[in-house]
Amino acid sequence: MKFDYEVGDIVRLKKQHPCGSSEWEILRVGADFRLKCMGCGHQIMIARKAVEKSARELKKKA
Ligand SMILES: [Zn+2]
Repeated sequence: MKFDYEVGDIVRLKKQHPCGSSEWEILRVGADFRLKCMGCGHQIMIARKAVEKSARELKKKA
């Protein structure tokens, strides 16, 4: 889904990380996003299109 993605928001993806968490903190936005797993802290780079395809929920930063 297309959300208003901003740094600091938490995005919930369809696919679970092996650690069991499906929530990621957004560290960088652009053509590629940098995400940090809320479960284990692992960081990944992922294409914006892949995020939009897999996103189920966006929690805006407080
Ligand atoms: Zn993880």
